[in-house]
Amino acid sequence: MTASIIDGKAEAARLRLRLAGEVAALKAEYGVTPGLAVVLVGDNPASEVYVRNKAAQTREVGMESFEFRLPADLTESALLALVQQLNGRADVHGILVQLPLPPQISAEKVLDAIAPEKDVDGFHPMNAGLLAVGKPGLVPCTPLGCLIMAKGVHESLVGLDVVVVGRSNIVGRPAAQLFITESCTVTVAHSRTQDLPGECRRADILLVAVGRPNLVRGDWIKPGATVIDVGINRVPKEGGGSRLVGDVAFDEAVEIAGAITPVPGGVGPMTIACLLANNLTCARIALGLV
Ligand code: NDP
Repeated sequence: MTASIIDGKAEAARLRLRLAGEVAALKAEYGVTPGLAVVLVGDNPASEVYVRNKAAQTREVGMESFEFRLPADLTESALLALVQQLNGRADVHGILVQLPLPPQISAEKVLDAIAPEKDVDGFHPMNAGLLAVGKPGLVPCTPLGCLIMAKGVHESLVGLDVVVVGRSNIVGRPAAQLFITESCTVTVAHSRTQDLPGECRRADILLVAVGRPNLVRGDWIKPGATVIDVGINRVPKEGGGSRLVGDVAFDEAVEIAGAITPVPGGVGPMTIACLLANNLTCARIALGLV
């Protein structure tokens, strides 16, 4: 059996198209254009690429993009002051501070300073708490994208066994909580899990967010399972250069799984589209519609 490939690019394009329609409707009815502020500190080339992509896609769906590029030696208090200023701006609905931050700045302090209703990344403890108790709030973009892709494969998620490998606050934990809210039976595995292959083999949906190339082998996968590979790892390419691979040994997994996300072209594009979806939610919150 060969798995069907979950096309994250196509799924993200569909989501952006839908968002563009909703943004236009919001503008027409309320005269409000959702605005997203993206703050980049320092000159990390990977972050610069992310920020450029985010800004381009923000504009593509009809939202306003405000970009702040700041020097690597910026002080923590200067960044906190900018966040406070953005918290108070009516034309900025969502605020994203691109990670990683330089060592003199506490990412936790900065992320916690973002007003919860403008927390487009869904990282603020208030939003994490709302997710934990199953109430509506802003949900981290990568797990949200994973959920949308899983729903694209399964007519109903109710009662499915979901195994999440990884328990970070950005991906693993919130993903587990989202699937619990969907009435799945969720197991969270991590570096101290005793029998990782055995846990993975029970999964109807296996979501892997670890950051280790090819950690999950084909024979860890239940035949027909849906595999969502969040990992992004740069590995050397034969003959020089490098390429991106996920946490799942794709060539093995594709022979066993029912559906699988590729890397690149799977979870990555959906993450940015979900960021835009969250920014629209932020604008709706500001208008008192949510
Ligand atoms: P973290 O490093 O924060 O967390 C990694 C998790 O994996 C931890 O919970 C850790 O366990 C667990 N882990 C580490 N080694 C093993 C192992 N051998 N067996 C089982 N579990 C293990 O990473 P993130 O969650 O931030 O990111 C994970 C991956 O996803 C990375 O490759 C990252 O680049 C990618 N990513 C992709 C995104 C996208 O848009 N596609 C967005 C965000 C991340 P423990 O807690 O016990 O240490």
